[in-house]
Amino acid sequence: MKIGFIGLGNMGGPMAANLAAGGHDVSGFDAAGTGAPGVRAAASAEDAARGAAVVITMLPDGDILRSVAARISPVMEKGAVFLDCSTVDVASARDVAARAREAGLSALDAPVSGGTGGAAGGTLTFMVGGDDAGFATARPLFDIMGQKAVYCGPSGNGQAAKICNNMILGATMIVTCEAFALADKLGLDRQAMFDVVSTSSGYSWSMNAYCPAPGIGPKTPADNDYKPGFAAELMLKDLTLAQRAAEAADADTPLGDAARAIYASFVEDEDGKGQDFSAMLPRLAARGRN
Ligand code: NAD
Repeated sequence: MKIGFIGLGNMGGPMAANLAAGGHDVSGFDAAGTGAPGVRAAASAEDAARGAAVVITMLPDGDILRSVAARISPVMEKGAVFLDCSTVDVASARDVAARAREAGLSALDAPVSGGTGGAAGGTLTFMVGGDDAGFATARPLFDIMGQKAVYCGPSGNGQAAKICNNMILGATMIVTCEAFALADKLGLDRQAMFDVVSTSSGYSWSMNAYCPAPGIGPKTPADNDYKPGFAAELMLKDLTLAQRAAEAADADTPLGDAARAIYASFVEDEDGKGQDFSAMLPRLAARGRN
């Protein structure tokens, strides 16, 4: 399949390389001039998009996605699939999809979970919104870049699924770290706390699979000096998108809102930028109530 790939950063680079290694004809463009193994370098986003059956974008945010989409939609072939895998706000995803449909294209929003390790290893999970026909066309590409693609309904629903998941993750990580910090102060051993909670009703992915306490549970970023993993600033991005969507939809999300504020302080004022999001544990453990 002829594929255009725009945004060859930490995620897009290895995703495009995997598609090329899977036998597809991939033409890629990145504004910073980066390339990817096996991917032909295009001179511009339009150049990468022209003549492609599927154009994939993997970009930083909704504004950049809107500007790239406005440039490439007119040059894409009618019936081709515009497949955005970036994490962006639901409103941008829906607007871009509506404009793509007006231009005679099929549109999918398919944000991912799995991080840079999943992108390199081809083990991402895709959460997909958009039309059935586009999903069917893109399916073999999801199979190469990932291990699972879940169809979530109309355009924007992929982004909705992603931010709902990550709102749960952010709030759960904070409360898991809070519990460890409280246990420390109560004289409860962290290993004992893990042994109880990981097999009791307080268990979660944050506790069982991504334990924020070094030396306890499976190997996680906590065991590597909290190097990401999933960086705190990316969690802040997703929590901010969740709050923006909640405001637009008039949804009451008090814990999601509190989680966003806590990660904002951590990233913006407390050196959290560049640390894994589970570094919330040393932050909380070092603090008192005020
Ligand atoms: P990144 O900053 O490494 O890559 C983004 C790339 O887009 C950069 O190389 C940049 O030069 C390029 N770019 C910016 N504007 C452009 C333009 N106008 N035209 C062409 N290229 C342009 O970011 P990333 O980590 O690869 O993340 C990409 C997306 O995936 C983001 O939306 C992010 O939220 C999401 N995501 C990231 C992770 C992760 O762990 N890194 C996990 C899940 C989802």
